[in-house]
Amino acid sequence: MLEEYFERLRSEPWRAKAACIGKNKHYFKIDTRGPEIYQKAIQICNTCPVKRQCLDFALANHERYGFWGGMTYRERCKEAKRRQGSASWVVLER
Ligand code: SF4
Repeated sequence: MLEEYFERLRSEPWRAKAACIGKNKHYFKIDTRGPEIYQKAIQICNTCPVKRQCLDFALANHERYGFWGGMTYRERCKEAKRRQGSASWVVLER
């Protein structure tokens, strides 16, 4: 099941444009890390041309770990609640 998830993630076309490619993966495992790592990840994500797709993928897959679309898990939970109250929220079918 986990392998299916990673296979699906690897096949996402937006991944090829991700600004985090080649960057230190520790920046994106930040839920338990400090503010310097958080700021570094934010800087990278804010330059990412596929930030929206990354966030949508994480929300659609209920991703609990790491930094996706410029957000921590807590921030993604808030975003999911915000979207549930918005007509523009569309869950991407996988
Ligand atoms: S938004 Fe997602 S794909 Fe883009 S740099 Fe951040 S973690 Fe990587």
